[in-house]
Amino acid sequence: MPLTAIVFGGRRAKSAPLVYQARNWQHGVFVGSIMASETTAAQAGDVGVIRRDPMAMLPFCGYNMGDYWQHWLDMGKKIKNQPKIFNVNWFRLDDNGNFLWPGFGENFRILDWITRRCVGEVNALDSPVGYIPNPEDIDIFGIDYEVSPGRKFDSDVLREILTIEPAFWKSDVDSIKDFYSKFEERLPKEMTEELARLEEKLGLQQKNIVILATGGTIAGTADSSDETVRYTPATVGIDALIESVPEIKNIANISGEQIAQVDSKDMDNDIWLKLAERVNSLTANPDVTGIVITHGTDAMEETAYFLNLVVNSEKPVVLTGAMRPSTAISSDGKINLFNAVILAGSSQARGKGVLVTMNDTIHSARAVVKTNTFLTDAFRSPDLGALGYILGNKAIFHKEEIRRHTFNSQFDITNLKQLPKVDIVYGYANASRSVIDALVQSGADGIIYAGVGNGSIFSDAEEGLIDARKAGVVVVRSSRVGNGIVNRNGAVDDDRLDFIASDTLNPQKSRVLLMLALTKTNCTKEIQKMFMEY
Ligand code: ASP
Repeated sequence: MPLTAIVFGGRRAKSAPLVYQARNWQHGVFVGSIMASETTAAQAGDVGVIRRDPMAMLPFCGYNMGDYWQHWLDMGKKIKNQPKIFNVNWFRLDDNGNFLWPGFGENFRILDWITRRCVGEVNALDSPVGYIPNPEDIDIFGIDYEVSPGRKFDSDVLREILTIEPAFWKSDVDSIKDFYSKFEERLPKEMTEELARLEEKLGLQQKNIVILATGGTIAGTADSSDETVRYTPATVGIDALIESVPEIKNIANISGEQIAQVDSKDMDNDIWLKLAERVNSLTANPDVTGIVITHGTDAMEETAYFLNLVVNSEKPVVLTGAMRPSTAISSDGKINLFNAVILAGSSQARGKGVLVTMNDTIHSARAVVKTNTFLTDAFRSPDLGALGYILGNKAIFHKEEIRRHTFNSQFDITNLKQLPKVDIVYGYANASRSVIDALVQSGADGIIYAGVGNGSIFSDAEEGLIDARKAGVVVVRSSRVGNGIVNRNGAVDDDRLDFIASDTLNPQKSRVLLMLALTKTNCTKEIQKMFMEY
């Protein structure tokens, strides 16, 4: 049977208006998911406690509610004429606990409005929570109801119950967050998006962004403004960096911390662990909206991918830097920092893994590569493409990274003091095994071989790698090509030699993943699986 409207309802003393309409199907699923009633004296337990009962289905739903919402979302895609979704609340109270709406048979007046909305007969007001009736569109003719002694129901009362009180919604938002947190990874991301949109529309989203500075050219200075090559990276401190782009303070409350002050060629495991720990503790703070990390460009892709695997949060974490020192004509650092703050404050960037923005482009940590030694558009995702752009102060996404990352990653650096030793060996015609032998001697736990083509290995180097594997070193075949897949048992019989293929990860990112993999296991089968998943 075709349905025209679905009406959810709850008993809310102050927050929900008499009736409101969801903006679209996804928003409607959100409206259903946050359905709630406040307990009354008729129930056992405390009065006024919010009880969430999504779609009034909690007692009947035999499986995870998160999956149930996903089912609604999926159904929405299949239904041609989606029913309109409404929420009603007959139970708004005045400050003395009197019901403001007469209820019972008078509720038909609201169903009448709903019907007229469905056939497009009446307009509505776009409020932060959804579409609310223009008071004159509700027929109150003939209602004879006394709200409290001396106060008759009239259009003023109607107006009152059609408003929303941001203060009540603020605490409701907190309670929704609390409720949603129970569903963990089963919560559809659409629900988090809708919640963020609600906060944004309520003007509650006081964005707090923390900038963690690590050095690099963005903090670099030269003797003159025409000097873009000879300069000293990592000289400008975080406070001066923030002061140099005052526009970011219009986007969010900004605070900064100096985590390191290095040229990123000197980025090491200790700084990585310190940085990751700091990001994890900051993102766990409910007041923090997102994190920006300023970084040298040379090793930015490695730090980004490392964080992508060990940060345990859906909040935006964005790396940026500069190709030209801060003193140069047309230095790119300021606009890159500005864009990074936009991205870190954007609800769209949530759950998308660690991101890099350079030159108005958004990249995933997994795909991004520095591809030029000096141009300002050095950062590309050459193999699989960038995620989107930053244009007109807005982050615009066109795709997302589907490999496991951040909140969905198994890696954990809590209590990790050091990382396994993994080195990279470059492949070339006539490559010898001597570097490989030296690495085994020096106690390497893993070797990434940046092979030619599809991870092919010159025979002498291959002998060295076979012996390295026999000595317990884990060997991963990547490629120096920079594009495409190094596939298992492709150019080399990985099954026989017990090697691992890197899929599309370049050698430097393969190193990051292997280091973390080795904190979990030495089993090559499991590690190969990780290379296919992350
Ligand atoms: N050498 C610098 C660094 O990586 C380059 C840059 O930041 O662009 O720290």
